[in-house]
Amino acid sequence: MRLRDLPSISAVLTRPAAQALLDRHGRTAATEAIRAQLAEARTALLAGGDVVPDPDTVAALALARLDAANQSGLRPLFNLTGTVLHTNLGRALLAEEAQAAALAAMGEPVALEFDLDSGGRGERDDHVRALLCDLTGAEDATIVNNNAAAVLLALNTLARGRGAIVSRGELIEIGGAFRMPDIMAQAGATLVEVGTTNRTHAKDYKAALNAETGVILKVHTSNYRIQGFTKEVLAHDLAAIAHGGGVPLLNDLGSGTLVDLSTYGLKREPTVREAVAEGADLVTFSGDKLLGGPQAGFIVGRRDLVAAVNRNPMKRALRVDKVRLAAIEATLKLYRDPDRLAQRLPTLALLSRPRAEIEDQARRLAPVLAAALGPDYAVDICACDSQIGSGALPLDTLPSAGLAVAAGGAALNRLAARFRALPRPIIGRIEDGRLVLDLRCLRDEAGFIATLAALP
Ligand SMILES: *Cc1c(COP(=O)(O)O)cnc(C)c1O
Repeated sequence: MRLRDLPSISAVLTRPAAQALLDRHGRTAATEAIRAQLAEARTALLAGGDVVPDPDTVAALALARLDAANQSGLRPLFNLTGTVLHTNLGRALLAEEAQAAALAAMGEPVALEFDLDSGGRGERDDHVRALLCDLTGAEDATIVNNNAAAVLLALNTLARGRGAIVSRGELIEIGGAFRMPDIMAQAGATLVEVGTTNRTHAKDYKAALNAETGVILKVHTSNYRIQGFTKEVLAHDLAAIAHGGGVPLLNDLGSGTLVDLSTYGLKREPTVREAVAEGADLVTFSGDKLLGGPQAGFIVGRRDLVAAVNRNPMKRALRVDKVRLAAIEATLKLYRDPDRLAQRLPTLALLSRPRAEIEDQARRLAPVLAAALGPDYAVDICACDSQIGSGALPLDTLPSAGLAVAAGGAALNRLAARFRALPRPIIGRIEDGRLVLDLRCLRDEAGFIATLAALP
């Protein structure tokens, strides 16, 4: 029995190797981790083992233990899923300008609701109102936590205790718990469904309009498409119907964009400016989808209605903080310079990356991945299709390239788990018995190579 040869906690703590432990995690956690490490060694000795770890080894093991336990679940990872705006991976990546603005606002006081000119009270929307109006053509604008909140708040303001008319073809589910009928119920509006799944006519809306109507709602069905025998009433005509009945038109664009995406080689999505020009009284859209900013929901449109939204007590519960507001302002400012937008806005840069460039990257990285994985896995360069994600243009994929690792089912799942366990996890997608790493969203190639080199 060599239990008495085990070092004491204080002996471990005085070793130079313990310094990193103390620096990084503090005395309390360090002591606890050493105690746990020594307890394990004691158990091993009692079970018949004959290895007595020296104090430096105990310190190193305790450090590894604390480092592992301390890893954040929110640490950066490589999104090689092929879905650019991946909701589960945090959607849009912020531009450097937005990151810098957020960082500056984080640690210092800012004039969030303070008017620097008069010294009096200001409004937090003031920082982005003019920008939003400029970019969308709307009279006024306000911001809340996300687009779900924007829809909830707009409906609650316009149609609480009244009817909200919507086409049966637009009663969509976005994912999570966001289903249009449920949001309407939570907003206190009575759902008035009109038309059918595939066809809704102007006369359907007109027949449903009455004194109880609070709003006509149009929802951009970005995440699914009905093809064939279909009919929808265009926003322009719907606006005329709504106004004829004395009620506003609310247009939920979802992933609203501020620019014509076809300029950047992508499929067109309706822009917010178009929705405003078509006569919608309020338009709602997301901050972290195609717009490429932080999570946020925008409500733009008629001044009197935005004012009513801002008077709604619910607004206070759904507002954004200074950090996000700073990032939103910086993101919106980038749109004033469309020529450089695709370089500065990561979402747009990734979406418009040419296939050939991604393929070159795949050619460079295939041997690196093969070397890291060893002879048990076959690595191939493959053509694949990226998705925009977040429900935007689900049928319009982007030609891309990646690395495909072939292996048996269990080995494939083991490999995916090994990638996920890395200090900087690599997330791919399993497809046809292969683990595919779509390289469209790989920006830090050197970091990726370093991560592969550390693959256990
Ligand atoms: C995504 C989406 C929403 C919800 O927006 P979040 O910003 O995720 O809250 C609402 N409506 C439509 C049409 C959407 O596409």
